[in-house]
Amino acid sequence: MISEVIKQEIIAIVGPDNVLDSELNRFGYSYDSSFVPLLPKNNPDLVVRPLTTDEVSRVMVVACAHEIPVTPRGAGSGRTGGSIPQKGGISLCLDRMTQIVELDLRNMMVTAEAGVRTIDLYNHCAEKGLFFPPDPASWKFSTIGGNVAENAGGMRAVKYGVTKNYVMGLEVVLADGAILKTGGKAIKNVTGYDLTSLFTGSEGTLGVVTQALFRLIPMPKRRGTLQVMFRTLDDGCRTVHTVLQAGVLPAAAEIMDRTCLEVVARHRKTEIDPEVGASVIIEIDGEDDAALETQTKRIEAAAKECGAIAFRAARSQQEAEELWAVRRGISSAVAALAPNRIGEDISVPRDAFPEVVRRIGEISKKHGLPIAVYGHAGDGNIHPSILCDLAKPGEEERVHHAVDDIFAAALDVGGTLSGEHGIGITKRPYIAGALGEIGIRTLKAMKAALDPKGILNPEKIW
Ligand SMILES: Cc1cc2nc3c(=O)[nH]c(=O)nc-3n(C[C@H](O)[C@H](O)[C@H](O)COP(=O)(O)OP(=O)(O)OC[C@H]3O[C@@H](n4cnc5c(N)ncnc54)[C@H](O)[C@@H]3O)c2cc1C
Repeated sequence: MISEVIKQEIIAIVGPDNVLDSELNRFGYSYDSSFVPLLPKNNPDLVVRPLTTDEVSRVMVVACAHEIPVTPRGAGSGRTGGSIPQKGGISLCLDRMTQIVELDLRNMMVTAEAGVRTIDLYNHCAEKGLFFPPDPASWKFSTIGGNVAENAGGMRAVKYGVTKNYVMGLEVVLADGAILKTGGKAIKNVTGYDLTSLFTGSEGTLGVVTQALFRLIPMPKRRGTLQVMFRTLDDGCRTVHTVLQAGVLPAAAEIMDRTCLEVVARHRKTEIDPEVGASVIIEIDGEDDAALETQTKRIEAAAKECGAIAFRAARSQQEAEELWAVRRGISSAVAALAPNRIGEDISVPRDAFPEVVRRIGEISKKHGLPIAVYGHAGDGNIHPSILCDLAKPGEEERVHHAVDDIFAAALDVGGTLSGEHGIGITKRPYIAGALGEIGIRTLKAMKAALDPKGILNPEKIW
């Protein structure tokens, strides 16, 4: 519990409208987009919505002095419970910090506050012909702070990498309220430890990101979208490798199984060919139409070699956008297929992608649980979604065993537990198996050095 005196101290910093403590408001900050059940113990005691870095710093000074847990929060779109408070305290929501501070055209860099929505940053840069590539499917609502904290990926990671590949520097408020600035606009910088990388992907456990400096690249002049249909998921998986081996590096290559395609068809009131078992959507880009044409031909040849039964190129921007809107909406659409959906986020070496997809099929049969499969086939990041009804007797246990088997399969083929959603609460039980004792000891030593009182996002990651 936070005393009235401390609450007044915080109100003096951010103003009364930005401290929420009604039961309804506290409940509103007790969940995110993961499958963590709604429980009163996950309510924060206070929700605090600062406007400036100075306010964040002063709130952290108060929290540190009274050892109050602080859970940073952006849009709450996280998939692993990262922004769900585990010990009450403060939910520190950065959603009012929405300034794009500077677009530096000469250096091709942009500085944005933590609460800026990903899509707004993308559009702001695109207006000047500059490209901010990290594009999580949640980009219409996720925040830059959350993207940095989770090292978010997206569709275009195949060619353009993930958030960390663009972070040049950060402004971070540490657990004691000190304001740390890391990195900067110098492209080469090996002065001291790479603190920028340390905070990127640290899930709000080491500091509160208040601003980020990103490098940008020129916007590709032409883009094309292709959709390929296959009889089997395996054919789709193999195609992605064949395309890469044919010397084409697509911007994105996304796979969806029959279950995903059916749910899309149902929403759009269309039908899909009964022969189709999987689809791959590919984005290509380049300097001019000729570059796109060459890539399209090579991809079509590779797809045919792998047994494609239909191939089409979007004929207009609108058609392309529709295809990508389907892909972006698939996660929520699949969730509607069963009373419960447990979605995972394993990532494996590219050449192991077909194998792990096959194993997921076997795990589905073994436990008698439908598992829908979609994901970023181009970079080996797959989102198996277990469709279940946890109210049924024995179902929860079966789901646990299926999740255990999925993680074991990922680790067995040289992969990892999470490609982009982080560990948070939901994958905590598995991290020791992935990192080993020395790995965990090293993480804990870093945490102890930066947050000796353990107030920042406690009980996450391990
Ligand atoms: C439909 C859907 C699709 C998605 N698709 C993708 C995808 O393609 N790729 C992908 O990577 N993710 C995806 N996600 C997951 C999620 O959107 C990302 O993890 C996103 O980066 C989270 O941003 P957020 O602002 O919602 O953060 P939150 O959920 O609020 O927080 C996430 C974590 O970051 C910490 N955090 C938030 N802000 C800060 C800050 N300023 N400083 C320090 N720590 C902070 C929180 O404590 C928490 O641990 C998807 C989610 C949904 C619901």
